[in-house]
Amino acid sequence: MQLGALRKLRETIYRLVRAAMTGTRFEPSDLAALNAAATAPDLIPQLNGHGAETVKWNSRDPVDAATSSIARDAVLLLARVSAKRIKECEGPDCSLLFLDESQSSRRRWCSMDRCGNLSKIHTYRRRKPQG
Ligand SMILES: [Zn+2]
Repeated sequence: MQLGALRKLRETIYRLVRAAMTGTRFEPSDLAALNAAATAPDLIPQLNGHGAETVKWNSRDPVDAATSSIARDAVLLLARVSAKRIKECEGPDCSLLFLDESQSSRRRWCSMDRCGNLSKIHTYRRRKPQG
């Protein structure tokens, strides 16, 4: 049940982000679903002493709380971040979207370790003289 709800939220966020990227109006049903998911109780920080390492995160239902945290992050992303900063990875076998926070706004891959290195290897092999 919770996994199904989480998958639905993932697809809702994907459609909303794609709409933002293309300047398309948000579907009212997607907006309603995202906003509803964001209303669930979030994780609760509990202080047990001095310093950040003493904070425990509690919740009656950790999966629902994590789902709510994801929805809240999506709300703030769509409200505060320029859609020009959201990009699709250029990896030929990758469809991940990512937030380009680089100063030059020229990031091309979801991850250098994943798609960036594969692209460099392919480029190197194409340029390498055969012999
Ligand atoms: Zn990628």
